[in-house]
Amino acid sequence: MGFGLNVSYDPFTYNGSTYNNVVATLPGKTHPEQVYIVGAHMDSISDRDDPTNMNAPGADDNASGMAAVLEMAKAMVGYAFDATIKFIGFNLEEKDLVGSKAYADKAKASGEQVRGMLNFDMIAYPGNSGAKNVFLAGDSNLVDALKRNALKYTKLTTTLSYNNFDDSDQYYFHSSLFPGSTSAFAIEAEPLNNPNYHKTTDSTETSNYMDFAYATDITRMGVATLADFAGVIPEPSTLFCFLLGGLLLMVGSRGKKT
Ligand SMILES: [Zn+2]
Repeated sequence: MGFGLNVSYDPFTYNGSTYNNVVATLPGKTHPEQVYIVGAHMDSISDRDDPTNMNAPGADDNASGMAAVLEMAKAMVGYAFDATIKFIGFNLEEKDLVGSKAYADKAKASGEQVRGMLNFDMIAYPGNSGAKNVFLAGDSNLVDALKRNALKYTKLTTTLSYNNFDDSDQYYFHSSLFPGSTSAFAIEAEPLNNPNYHKTTDSTETSNYMDFAYATDITRMGVATLADFAGVIPEPSTLFCFLLGGLLLMVGSRGKKT
């Protein structure tokens, strides 16, 4: 259990060994069979220093994305949603999307109704330009929703693409590969300019590197979008005010001649 959620290992095999994705589930209230996934990869690599180097702190790639998923779980567990939300840490992304492909294959085989997948991969290095720009790519309805929420709730600017990029975990959940689903990912706009990418210096100890306010804004955009898609159910107090307001309007209008 974590944040009050049921958490389990979801094993898969790669090259004769067993690895695990980690799945935390927030069951839906009205359509629990419909599933929205928010995920990030947990593994990291330092192959630009040395392919065999086991020191891979992976602070931006991808502890930043995993932190977004954990913070979203922490925030969303206090609310009820129509659909089920699964918070997933994917393994072996750096080995060519092995963990997310294993999950998508299993979900398709078992008939799990995955309606959407939002992925975070490298969200804490905004680049040198000073612009707080985030790159959003994938199915258009999800990309457009992310952009709307970025404008509404954050100071981010956005660059959009409706292509399905095959270099991160949203790939196998795209509508073209997973019928009924929609997928997108959020990534810093200048990942190729990241001087610490896949190096031992991808660390919070590297100065002038990570921008946590930027990562927070990307997380904020994500949580608002996931709440829209999974159908957040108004809290009782909100609902009560809404109903009371309606009742007062009805009572008020009865006394008036129209
Ligand atoms: Zn990554």
